[in-house]
Amino acid sequence: MSAATVTDVRKLLHLAADRIEARNRRPVEPTPLLVNRPTPHAGQLPFVTGTEKRKVVVAGRRGGKTTGAAIRAVDALQQGRRVLEAAPTADQTTAFWETCKRILQPSIDAGLLYKNESERVLELLPRGGPRIRAKTAWDADTLRGDYADLLILDEYQMMHPNVWDLVGAPMLLDNDGDAIFIFTPQRKNHAYQQYLRAINDDSGRWGHWHFRSMDNPHLSTAAMDEITGDMTEDAYRQEILAEFLDSEGAVFRNIPACLGAPKHATPDEHTDHRIVIGADWGKQQDRTAFSVFCVTCKAEVEIDYSREVDYHVQRQRLEVRYERWGADVVHAEANAMGEPIIEELIRSGLHVIPFQTTAVSKPPLIESLALAFERTEAQWIDDPIGTAELEAYERSVTPATNRSRYSAPEGMNDDTVIARALAWAMASLPPAAGASSDDNLVMQAYRTDRSELVRRSMR
Ligand SMILES: [Zn+2]
Repeated sequence: MSAATVTDVRKLLHLAADRIEARNRRPVEPTPLLVNRPTPHAGQLPFVTGTEKRKVVVAGRRGGKTTGAAIRAVDALQQGRRVLEAAPTADQTTAFWETCKRILQPSIDAGLLYKNESERVLELLPRGGPRIRAKTAWDADTLRGDYADLLILDEYQMMHPNVWDLVGAPMLLDNDGDAIFIFTPQRKNHAYQQYLRAINDDSGRWGHWHFRSMDNPHLSTAAMDEITGDMTEDAYRQEILAEFLDSEGAVFRNIPACLGAPKHATPDEHTDHRIVIGADWGKQQDRTAFSVFCVTCKAEVEIDYSREVDYHVQRQRLEVRYERWGADVVHAEANAMGEPIIEELIRSGLHVIPFQTTAVSKPPLIESLALAFERTEAQWIDDPIGTAELEAYERSVTPATNRSRYSAPEGMNDDTVIARALAWAMASLPPAAGASSDDNLVMQAYRTDRSELVRRSMR
């Protein structure tokens, strides 16, 4: 080995030793930073100050869990630690990032911290030591490529189950780091499993905390009413009370109270009323179903289904009802055979708004109808098949995606449920938008409404 190489190796060894030393270095005194630290509320306090290595925090919406996480992150920064916060959506990361900046603003102003907005890093100067980083990540791959000695996984229920085992836990191995899992329950998915682990731990390594939205003293009654205004009972228990609901079960409640619509209504009883139609097309085994709904009376006026497979005949059946009831609009499923039928209907002069059924668009469509039943917002015809399909309709969870899935049980159909959900989606639009003869306006109002519903369901 030449002299030069020996020197190089020595240099490298020194460098490595320095790195290990730097990594293990913990200031005896907390770094004197200037902070606007809010006082944690009673629900936040235990997880902000607790010494457990693994913390599971279950909280209702707006319960203050992200603020609690930010206070914890700033405290950790002052203790000389490297903090990585990850959340699955940019909005969520932003909430954490903005809160950290607010708390640390005096230190930023005083030039004690390096701040990088695009990387979302707040780092003690000189750089290379303690810092806070906020990052949008939802699975193993998006979390990779970073290290921390305090890892905060926010909205953990929305992350992929592999995020902890594949990347989170290994990241903390080097330096015996800590982890905080923060979430609002999403039924009994992987986040619930982590909660079970915490409550069954006797070693003191794991801690668990639970608080509801109303445990946040800073949340006003008005804000609370706004959040809960359009929630089903299930949604309220899960999102506000932070309860773990069963993953599977019936979707529609309060059905008997909503079956009061007259069975043999006639168009002359609904002259000048606004009528909408929901249409679900039959495929192989199931039926084509139409739900004709009077928006003015908030009542279904006709439910029709048939096993007719000829699309030409199906189209005619719909056209007859459109004419007879003087309908304003048809909301029709557009998947597969739906599209060509809709095109022909539009060519015949009918006003049709298509609906694309996807794993994302279907849950809010169904949940909106479930809410209408729970609140007795409309009356429906007590048809034997229609009622049986409502009663049997169920929620299940797709293991791969952890997403709620709505469908009829094995061997049953859901055509009338879908037709009614589509009719209700039109009926529950603001009348001005729904009644407009301008298709573009209607379409735009509709899309806005839908995306709002989708956004809420993803929250
Ligand atoms: Zn009417």
